[in-house]
Amino acid sequence: MTGSLDPDAIAAAADLLARAQHAVALAGAGMSKESGIPTFRGEGGLWTRLGEPPLNQYETFARDPRRWWERRLEEAQQPSEFGGALEAAQPNPGHVALAALEAIGVLGHLITQNIDDLHRRAGQRSLTEIHGNRHWMRCTVCGARWPREQVHIDAADLPPRCLEGNCDGIVKSDTVMFGEPIPFGALVACERETDRADCFLTIGTSAVVYPAAQYPVDAWRRGVPLIEINPEETPLSELATVVVRGPSGAALPRIVEAVRARRSSAEVAR
Ligand code: NAD
Repeated sequence: MTGSLDPDAIAAAADLLARAQHAVALAGAGMSKESGIPTFRGEGGLWTRLGEPPLNQYETFARDPRRWWERRLEEAQQPSEFGGALEAAQPNPGHVALAALEAIGVLGHLITQNIDDLHRRAGQRSLTEIHGNRHWMRCTVCGARWPREQVHIDAADLPPRCLEGNCDGIVKSDTVMFGEPIPFGALVACERETDRADCFLTIGTSAVVYPAAQYPVDAWRRGVPLIEINPEETPLSELATVVVRGPSGAALPRIVEAVRARRSSAEVAR
């Protein structure tokens, strides 16, 4: 293992990525910390400071969706620290570098646990948002999705109902609540991409939320090299071929620049 944010770790990560045909990345909340969005765990994380929230959110929603929607409308009047940060956030240099890694043909797919939409805004194209997207709504019955502004929310007639055909299912935010099953299509995409990976990057994730944390382990079991980018140790650190200990907004642009240099000198040599 190569430790610490040092030039050797950057070079070792770039060596692995420059050889990859279909690298896959798993991103977590740390990826957006330099965009001003707090993480849940780790130093300064919301839960580290304030304690864990109730982990039965979906059960609460399913028991009384109307009450859940009423609370959501009330909370929208006074956004929380997390909600305010999400609204103000812009993609950071790490998001931009990851989109560039895709554009140069190295990163084949990105699985993100983030709901903040920053990867898409940075230009990422092959993307699975395994925990949903905060700007979308989803039917709990047929799984249809719509941009949130297309769903008319009538405070006198909650919860909103599905807009498709005769479905009439209850609509909720697209973001996956604690205790809620992950949409099947997202799981299939994550498994398919993990099976294709020839290099696996984990970025800014504490790697304790499943099933997301399982994908790098599955790739590692097939002998795929893992690169971890995180200022703190995680359960994946001991499996990683290369660990870049540092913030992704600083590390990723340097790694991508080094990958570009390796790819263009390989072109010249041909
Ligand atoms: P987590 O909060 O459990 O862990 C965050 C990780 O990021 C830690 O390991 C921490 O060391 C690392 N980190 C902190 N600063 C970093 C930086 N600058 N660069 C790189 N890494 C950094 O996050 P998780 O593993 O993604 O799991 C939490 C769950 O919470 C996810 O399911 C996600 O959906 C949700 N979440 C999303 C957002 C978001 O959309 N931005 C923010 C918070 C939580």
